[in-house]
Amino acid sequence: MKQQQKIVWSGADERKRQSKPFDGEKVYDACIIGGGVIGCAIARELSRWQLSLGLLEMRSDVSEGTSKANSAIIHAGYDAKPGSEKARTNVAGNQLFEPLCRELHVPFRRNTSLVVAFSSDGLAGLRELKSRGEINGVDGLSILSQAELRRREPAIGPSAAGALLAETGGICSPYELTIALAAHAVLNGLDLQLNCKVGQIRHDGRWFHLQTSRGPVRCQVLINAAGVYADTIHNQLSRQPIEITPRRGEYWLLDKSVSDAFSATIFQLPTAMGKGILVSPTVDGTMLLGPTAEDIDDKDDVRTTAQRLDEILRVAAKTWPDLPRGQFITSFAGLRAHARQNDFILGEVADCPGLINAAGIESPGLTAAPAIGIELARLAARRLNAPRRSQWQPAWQPPQPFRLMETEQRARAVRDNPAWGRIICRCEQVTEAEIRAAINRPVGAATVDGIKRRTRAGMGRCQASFCTPRVLAILSEELGVSRLELTKFGNGSRILTGRIGETVRSHEPPAADAAAGGLEVSHD
Ligand SMILES: Cc1cc2nc3c(=O)[nH]c(=O)nc-3n(C[C@H](O)[C@H](O)[C@H](O)COP(=O)(O)OP(=O)(O)OC[C@H]3O[C@@H](n4cnc5c(N)ncnc54)[C@H](O)[C@@H]3O)c2cc1C
Repeated sequence: MKQQQKIVWSGADERKRQSKPFDGEKVYDACIIGGGVIGCAIARELSRWQLSLGLLEMRSDVSEGTSKANSAIIHAGYDAKPGSEKARTNVAGNQLFEPLCRELHVPFRRNTSLVVAFSSDGLAGLRELKSRGEINGVDGLSILSQAELRRREPAIGPSAAGALLAETGGICSPYELTIALAAHAVLNGLDLQLNCKVGQIRHDGRWFHLQTSRGPVRCQVLINAAGVYADTIHNQLSRQPIEITPRRGEYWLLDKSVSDAFSATIFQLPTAMGKGILVSPTVDGTMLLGPTAEDIDDKDDVRTTAQRLDEILRVAAKTWPDLPRGQFITSFAGLRAHARQNDFILGEVADCPGLINAAGIESPGLTAAPAIGIELARLAARRLNAPRRSQWQPAWQPPQPFRLMETEQRARAVRDNPAWGRIICRCEQVTEAEIRAAINRPVGAATVDGIKRRTRAGMGRCQASFCTPRVLAILSEELGVSRLELTKFGNGSRILTGRIGETVRSHEPPAADAAAGGLEVSHD
């Protein structure tokens, strides 16, 4: 195996670079819009060719859109309509997942999945799914009797009548994968530009001219991986418009204390709106319930609602009657990019040569990402007539998490660097050393959520109530900025509003400020 290039990554330098306007126009051979799992998978594959490559992401980190909030299931591929882009790329992507995650040092588990029929009428639906899967080329499908199902999953509800077993079903960490894809592409020459929102785009027949929030960009091949906003990009350049509707899905997340309730991902029979409410273990040991499916107008509205969260509990109770309601640690929502044609829109746009779409990538888009990445990168490289690179750097390997180390490894780590001995997140056992490493690495964290997704600090039972001040202090030190400037996820999401002394002085009569010290206060 090739050695990793020895480069010192500075979070402080990177934050400065990512927050200032470009010096003049940026010119690339190929440019990708969107730093989700699709854009990053394409970028990593394209970095195998000799070309100048940019990726523009409007948010302050990669994986801040749909790729951070989904079910994290690597679908087997029995659900998609035979002959569709979804079916083809799902089955191909599933097969690529295991070696890809190994190469990128990202967690992945083939935990299998089960589609459960909750009445004998549903058994015909299972057989239909099985034959659809076989047409799609899915291996390892079989129908389980009620007794076999119960033996595998004793916690399943009493009305479960049988199930379709998919042995190739799996689970992964979608945001860790996206970050790792981006980091690997950066190590191989990708110019990643964050906080860079693409506005107007013009094509002059040879070049695409993009106006962005950080300055002008020009490129010969433009790849549209803008998630729910892919229609806004496409419709500026083509006379055949597409329409993307945000379809919101809400979730509950349960604590690690119930991690052994189910080993497979449990689906109910799918409906026209999607794969229904699932109960699934996660690679991190928590348990996930959801998602709902609701078409909405606002492409940024990721609020959860009491009504939909109640719906999840009602439906999931069929799968898991003993659902322990005291073990919920959080809820969240993600937006599916639903295209009117109900399929992925992949490839070069007929009336705009050089524009390559990866649009309408709703589920199973995460599963399909490795296959879409390879396919669209090849298309772009062919269009540019680019030769393959002879050298390709191996992927970045983050330090092994303290929580997964053996006692002897922990002792050695602390001896070498005492920061390994200082626990910052108690729930997830994340140390100061891991947090500093998450900042100073390729595609490092510059926000509290960025730290969370790279280390799990703040993802445990207390949901960051203990570790946030400490994480802010380390970010401030490493990035060389005041804690008051730091955000939860960029875009003005500041956590601290001011020093108590100053805040009290501005709101209270003068006598009150004598006791006020230098502490900081938070929004809520
Ligand atoms: C509820 C739900 C459950 C799902 N479950 C699964 C599952 O279990 N398995 C599975 O395989 N798939 C699943 N999916 C689908 C999967 O999550 C998506 O297909 C995948 O994450 C899409 O990735 P993306 O890169 O296309 O989009 P995104 O991750 O949304 O990335 C698009 C990026 O483009 C950026 N962008 C947009 N406009 C601009 C602009 N003008 N300038 C610059 N940047 C811009 C955005 O900020 C965003 O970061 C699920 C989706 C949802 C919502």
